[in-house]
Amino acid sequence: MALQLRPNCEYCDKDLPPDATEARICSYECTFCAECVDTKLRNVCPNCGGGFTPRPVRPATEWRKGVSVAHQPPSDQRVHLKRTPDEIASLRARVSDVPPERR
Ligand SMILES: [Zn+2]
Ligand SMILES: [Zn+2]
Repeated sequence: MALQLRPNCEYCDKDLPPDATEARICSYECTFCAECVDTKLRNVCPNCGGGFTPRPVRPATEWRKGVSVAHQPPSDQRVHLKRTPDEIASLRARVSDVPPERR
């Protein structure tokens, strides 16, 4: 099963198409833009507490048969964060000083 390429930042709703270099994901595929990860979330996923990594770009070209963004298209389901700003801030305060590999 392919990584789910979600279409937007959960925090600010910015579009993040499959070739976006600024898309960031956690291990659960929660998806945010780099600016929100750096400035609002401080590398703490508000849904799971994990860190983020750049989302790989899915190739537009079918270099190998049956694998490309046309064959495994991005999700069209926009996702919106359900946490309140207070909930985000309190988790960030508890977690952001712990390196992701020790969370
Ligand atoms: Zn954002
Ligand atoms: Zn997460």
